[in-house]
Amino acid sequence: MRDEIAVIGSGVGGLAAAARLAKNGYRVSVYEKLDRCGGVANIIEDKGFKFDTGPSLVMMPDFLEEIFQYCGENLNDYLSLKILDQSYKIFYADGTQLNIYRDSERTKEEIEKIERGGSRGFDRFLQEAQGIDSVLRPLFYRCFSAGNMLSPKFWNIAAGLKMNKSYWQVVSKFFKSVKLRYAFTFQSLFVGASPFSAPGFYSIITYLDHRQKIFHSLGGTYQVPLAFRKMAEKFGAKLFYNQAIKNIRKQGSEFILDTERGAVKADKVVVNADYNYTQKYLLGRKLTPRKYSCSAMMIYLGLNRKIKGLGHHNFFFPADWRKNLREVFNTKLFSQDPFFYVYVPTVTDPSLSPAGKETVCILILAPNLENLRDNIEEHRERLRNAVFSRIKDISGQDLKDSLEVEHRFYPHDFRKCYNLYNGATFGFSHNLVQDIFSLPKNYDHYLKGLYYVGGSTQPGSGLPSVIAGSRIVADLL
Ligand SMILES: Cc1cc2nc3c(=O)[nH]c(=O)nc-3n(C[C@H](O)[C@H](O)[C@H](O)COP(=O)(O)OP(=O)(O)OC[C@H]3O[C@@H](n4cnc5c(N)ncnc54)[C@H](O)[C@@H]3O)c2cc1C
Repeated sequence: MRDEIAVIGSGVGGLAAAARLAKNGYRVSVYEKLDRCGGVANIIEDKGFKFDTGPSLVMMPDFLEEIFQYCGENLNDYLSLKILDQSYKIFYADGTQLNIYRDSERTKEEIEKIERGGSRGFDRFLQEAQGIDSVLRPLFYRCFSAGNMLSPKFWNIAAGLKMNKSYWQVVSKFFKSVKLRYAFTFQSLFVGASPFSAPGFYSIITYLDHRQKIFHSLGGTYQVPLAFRKMAEKFGAKLFYNQAIKNIRKQGSEFILDTERGAVKADKVVVNADYNYTQKYLLGRKLTPRKYSCSAMMIYLGLNRKIKGLGHHNFFFPADWRKNLREVFNTKLFSQDPFFYVYVPTVTDPSLSPAGKETVCILILAPNLENLRDNIEEHRERLRNAVFSRIKDISGQDLKDSLEVEHRFYPHDFRKCYNLYNGATFGFSHNLVQDIFSLPKNYDHYLKGLYYVGGSTQPGSGLPSVIAGSRIVADLL
């Protein structure tokens, strides 16, 4: 019989690893501190409204297809992915708007309204990013060590990836208008990084937005972890909820994991819980100083009527975005004028609210808790009002008048609920010094048989990356 494997955490990465390992014949037990699976990709259900608590943009569907193929299953038996005709709407502080469509020709018409000749820049950008994508794509499924990066082979790869340039620099050469530069770089925030410090190769996120388009998982993104759980259970994995692991230790060749209900044993361990939290609290190790991603203030609203003027995905820029990013990533303050994102899945998927009503999820970019120089208590009502006021400018509707349900989630909630170190929603920062290749490896250097999967380890955060990380772990095992 194959080894017994304990997976700590049932986030998307933990469930994806559990499914692959169970398929490969291991005996898999997943221990989750909460009473449900999904990690940050969770759901709040209230009075018929269903809120995706975390991820909402389903991108790079080939990563999803890969895991179902790996497990010998058919994606369509588990998930209904719908491609969005309108990928997203961008709202600028001066009241102008840019719509991005599945149909690139329509997108180009929109781009031309902002910058004459901008559509040529768009084509050239896609061409350049395609080159980066072709170099980067296979690397998602490899675990890099410091030794790999010293080899001349890696230097050639690095040159192809524009690792000496920031996301902003890579994009800026194709567009004169600051508005278009904003529109083609804000996707770095999908991995919690500023485009001014994220390496140029992350511009493949923008590229894939336009090339592979944006998908919605009908029933909400929560269907993704549910699908992985179903697959893991089909192959025999067992899930244990309300079972927080307190400590990881090794006795001979066996791992002992302490829980409040006693110790459990395993031959091998895959940790899906946040890497830094694990090092400090489960392994009792000293932390290596590193930079962390940003955090977020979340507001979930159930409205008793439809809202006008918004699309499925909506991104709102402040007047001075560079200043806002400095506040979030450097000076660690809650901005007066923040960048925020509004997700209205009921534009596409009526199953997520009672009939005729609207489900709205708002993400306000916020600093993580490390050296935070501000107190959220003093800003939360102001931030909520600022967001409501900009939405009112567009829809003519005051959200306060149609509120039926409201939930909020702050940076310190990410720490408390999911054990995310410093409340950094996307784990480590992705910047020019700390890119996917220098994130913690997917295996432990000191304890043989201990592996890592999830947003704070290679190849990084975001659903496609953590799914790829689960493949790396399965291959290593
Ligand atoms: C607000 C938000 C929006 C996002 N939007 C997108 C998006 O649109 N598209 C996209 O692709 N990605 C998005 N992401 C990123 C993506 O959701 C994450 O990268 C991914 O879901 C992280 O998965 P994970 O496997 O690393 O684990 P996590 O979700 O961090 O799960 C880890 C699990 O471990 C559990 N755990 C922790 N400690 C213990 C312990 N001691 N014992 C047992 N269990 C423990 C936690 O409870 C949790 O369930 C978003 C993230 C956030 C937060």
